[in-house]
Amino acid sequence: MISKVEGFIVSETPYGDSSKIIHVLTKEHGVIGIMAKGSKSLKSKNRATTLKFTYGIFNIYYKENKLSTLIDVEVIDELANIKNDITLISYLNYLTELTTQVAKQSIDEDIYDIFINAVLLINKNLNPMVITNIVEIKYLKYLGVFLNLDNCYKCGSNKDIVTISFNYGGLICKECYHDEEIVDLKMIKILRNYLYIDLAKISKIDLDETIVKKINLFIDLYYEQYTGLYLQSKKFLKTIID
Ligand SMILES: [Zn+2]
Repeated sequence: MISKVEGFIVSETPYGDSSKIIHVLTKEHGVIGIMAKGSKSLKSKNRATTLKFTYGIFNIYYKENKLSTLIDVEVIDELANIKNDITLISYLNYLTELTTQVAKQSIDEDIYDIFINAVLLINKNLNPMVITNIVEIKYLKYLGVFLNLDNCYKCGSNKDIVTISFNYGGLICKECYHDEEIVDLKMIKILRNYLYIDLAKISKIDLDETIVKKINLFIDLYYEQYTGLYLQSKKFLKTIID
């Protein structure tokens, strides 16, 4: 039976002389493998539409837990802005690698929506650092290292918050404060917005560049220390934006 599946190609592996297997992130099935027969051949109608970072509707013979077979792809968005900019490609490459890891650890349809909405916003030239940080904050719960940005991690109060504890992944109120490093409250408020904002509703971003970079640094450190993820694409991205 032919299925129409919306998805995004996260990687491709050559198979024989003229074929390849594409790995496609989908909303319903997570990442699935699809055999694209003959797609490396010059005459193939699927040659250009089976490249990494293709976002489209995949017409396939779907087989659960096995390789599906590709019929063809209808591209939804060429993502032309991203593909013409080395910095944006580096962000896309990182988000793709990160999302693949997150999708391996959790099956949740929200992961697909977060990822695709982020990619579309970056393609619309919205601040890629902010968008990437929003995705990273939202993914923490799927990685098992959720950051509680609602109340004090010790007593549960949501009043008189003074800082955020990196070590305990939560806020600290005035009563429970000991000697933790003080983090700017404005930054905590923005982090909280990142966690709860619906990416589909963002049309512009109006944030000071200094605070954007501070938040990025905070999230970088948190990821390094708690997620156990060491992604090559992240290392490369850092060399590009620093
Ligand atoms: Zn407290």
